[in-house]
Formats: sequence, structure tokens, C-alpha cells
Amino acid sequence: AKSSPAQTEFYQATEEVLECLRPLFERTPHYHQHSIIERIVEPERQIMFRVSWLDDAGRVQVNKGYRVQFNSALGPYKGGLRFHPSVTAGTIKFLGFEQIFKNALTGLPIGGGKGGSDFDPKGKSDNEIMRFCQSFMTELYRHIGPNSDVPAGDIGVGAREIGYLFGQYKRLTGRYEGVLTGKGLSWGGSLGRKEATGYGAVYFAQNMLAARGETLEGKTCLVSGAGNVAIYTIEKLYELGARPITCSDSRGTIHDPSGIDLELLKRLKEVERVSLEAYLRERPEALYVPAHDYPSDGHAVWRIQGDVAFPCATQNELTECDAKVLIENGVRCISEGANMPSTKAAVEHFLAAKLAYGPGKAANAGGVATSQLEMAQNSSMEQWPLAKVDKKLQRIMADIYRQCAETAKEFGEPENLVLGANIAGFRKVADAMIEQGVT
Ligand code: NDP
Repeated sequence: AKSSPAQTEFYQATEEVLECLRPLFERTPHYHQHSIIERIVEPERQIMFRVSWLDDAGRVQVNKGYRVQFNSALGPYKGGLRFHPSVTAGTIKFLGFEQIFKNALTGLPIGGGKGGSDFDPKGKSDNEIMRFCQSFMTELYRHIGPNSDVPAGDIGVGAREIGYLFGQYKRLTGRYEGVLTGKGLSWGGSLGRKEATGYGAVYFAQNMLAARGETLEGKTCLVSGAGNVAIYTIEKLYELGARPITCSDSRGTIHDPSGIDLELLKRLKEVERVSLEAYLRERPEALYVPAHDYPSDGHAVWRIQGDVAFPCATQNELTECDAKVLIENGVRCISEGANMPSTKAAVEHFLAAKLAYGPGKAANAGGVATSQLEMAQNSSMEQWPLAKVDKKLQRIMADIYRQCAETAKEFGEPENLVLGANIAGFRKVADAMIEQGVT
């Protein structure tokens, strides 16, 4: 920690994984002989670059660009790009580290990577977004490729940004190939990719609840976030007869006790790109808590009573106090759509209460899994029907749940899916690294 004091999120993520691995290392000491821990925490490659672009006033703006190619033991690097002002080298490193084990859990041939920029897309015109993306790709293109590193979207990077990035890649290389996922449906995208992370987090919850003899039907659900993952979590919850009553963005939280108006939410966030406060104009009966009124020790969304919680915004958005209130209010299941949304102390409370808790690297793996399905369609020049993609997604989420649950049982803590996910994901990567020699 002393050599990289700013990488607190990366240390949080590695600490969680390494603590879970203790019982595995006791049983299989040969991992030590191969220095697997020392190798796995070190990215194979980290690229940092300047992104200069012209704003609408003709001024030169400068941002930092990152791509961390963390681990390629199981396949080409795969992981999203995040554009958000909070992004640092440590953020990208933590996300890349988590991505290794998540990708391993999908059972698909993909290694772990992540990238992004401290660029803030908020308030930028379409042309500014395009110029930024073109400049970002002007450096990134030389480091990626359909068989080496295939980026996707994440916070602040959706279909629009992937389009601009893809257009610039094509212009620079002269190649039309599956180098990015999350593409538009008419130019190489996969049906079901946009929905996959949210739907997958709900399928994961379904599997956790089924193991306890419960279903989502009739359950009141708390969802945080109002982006890609949150929107499609809410959509699938409605399809399964649940009632999602909240969503949130960086400025505040909506509580709509009769159920979130999904069409309105999509319009505000996917089309108009405005703050959630605008939700009240059409649903005056809903409640809005602005971020400056949140409790000092947590987030307003988790102080509302609900049966199942889906954190779908960002890291560390669910604190220890939030976890305590959720438990007191009778929450039965937490399925993480976001990456590392619960703090370490919050996770400890969920595990101590023996709740059905699905950590992000397992519960939100549906997005990257469907990205790999997009890569498979691109390389075979096919486009599969939605039903086929969705069926595969459901099977992959059920399989991830099974692996986590069985591994947790194997190590004597049957309800601990954090332990199960970390050991099951790590084992696959570590074994592949050993078989591939000292690299
Ligand atoms: P989006 O950019 O589409 O949406 C993010 C949402 O979270 C927005 O509502 C945003 O608010 C809110 N948010 C972002 N940062 C903060 C912050 N610092 N504080 C409070 N609210 C914040 O991103 P996604 O939905 O794609 O991603 C959400 C989470 O899911 C992330 O953790 C991401 O890593 C994870 N994830 C995403 C996958 C995908 O396929 N997209 C795959 C797997 C995981 P506002 O609208 O105000 O910006």
C-alpha cells in the first residue's frame, strides 16, 4: 500500500479476494510455489495516455486515458471503459482485478481488463463526446484487437460512445472487426447485450432465492442507479412480478411506492439525459431525496423498507450503516449489479446475517458473458435471435450461481457466495497460469 497510496479501491478488492483464498492455499500449497498471488495482483500491462480534444468553444481540453490489461490466462483481455470524473489509475486497476475472476466465472474464454478516463460526459454536447471518443481511440487502437483486447461500456460509456469509438477504430485501421462490444444492432451488436447485466443480476437473485424456496414474485425491490444496469434490472423485475420502488442518480433518490415508472425513467435517462428530479414533474406522488439530504453515514435508498436490494450505481454506495438498516428492515436478498457497491463492513454484516448475498463479480457477470456472445457472433458473422441469447444468459447465470454455491459448500461455508465466487474464479485462472508456465 505504501508504494501506491492512492489505490485504496484496488487494495479493498484485493484484500477481499486474498482473505477468501486462505483455506484454498492451505489445501493446495503448490499455488505458493508458483508465486501465484504475487503474479495475479500485478497487471500484465498498464497503459496511460493523454487525451486532448477540442471543446465547442475551440479550447483544447486534456484528460487522462487508461487501459489495464490485467490477465490473459483464459483469453483476450475483456472489460469495459468508464468515463467519469472520479476515475483514477486505482479505480481502473480495481475494476480490472475484479474482472479477471468475474470473467473466469462465466466459463467463457475471456481474460480480464478495464479502461477509461476522468472525462466527464455530463453537460457535453454530442460533438464534444464524439471528439473526445475519437481522440481516446486514436491512442487506444494500437493496444486492442478482436483476439487481444476487446473493450466494452461501463459508467458513462453506452451505445453512443461505443459507436464513436468504433467509427474511429475503423478509420484508423481500415478494419471492420469485433474489437468492441455493446455495438449498435445494425453494425455488429448482439440482441440482449444492452439488457444483459441488469437481467443477469435479477436471474442471479432468482437462483439465490430459489435455493431458499422463494421467488421474486410479489417482492418489493430497492434499486440504486438509473443507468444501463439499473434500468434493465427494473425491467426484468416487473416481468417477474416484483415491484421495484426506487432508483437513484448522482444527485438524488426517487422513491415511488406504487412502482417506478419504467417508460418515464428510460425517457429521462436514455433520451433526455437529465437528472432524476425531473421524474417528479410527471409523477408528483413520488418522493425525491436530494443527495445533500442523505444520512451522513450512508445512502437514502437503503433506508427504505424492501425485500430484495439491487445496488446498481457505483462502488462503495452501500455502507455498514446502510447494511444494518436493510437487515433490520427485513431484507432477504442482495444482488449486486454494480462492481463492489457494498463496503467491506457492509459485506461482513450480510454474511453474518446469513442473507442471500450475491457479490458483483458473480451477480453482474451477465453483461460480460453476453459481450463474449457478441464476440462469438462477430467472428462467425451471425446475429442470433434474442431468445437464443437470453436462454444462454439464463444458463450462464444459473451456472455461476451453482459454481459459487458448490465451492462455498466445499469449503464449509455453504451460504458464503463471496468465498465461493472468489475461490471458484481464482482456481480457474491460477491453474491456467501454472499450465502456461512462468509468464
Ligand atoms: P451508467 O453510466 O449507465 O449508469 C450509472 C448510474 O450510476 C447513473 O445513474 C449515475 O448517476 C450513477 N452514478 C455513477 N457514479 C456515481 C457516483 N459516484 N455516485 C452516485 N451515483 C453515481 O453505468 P452502468 O449502469 O453501466 O454501470 C453501473 C454499475 O454497474 C457500475 O458499477 C459498473 O461498473 C457496473 N457494471 C456495468 C456493466 C454494464 O454492462 N454496463 C457490467 C457489469 C457491471 P448519473 O445519472 O447522475 O450519472
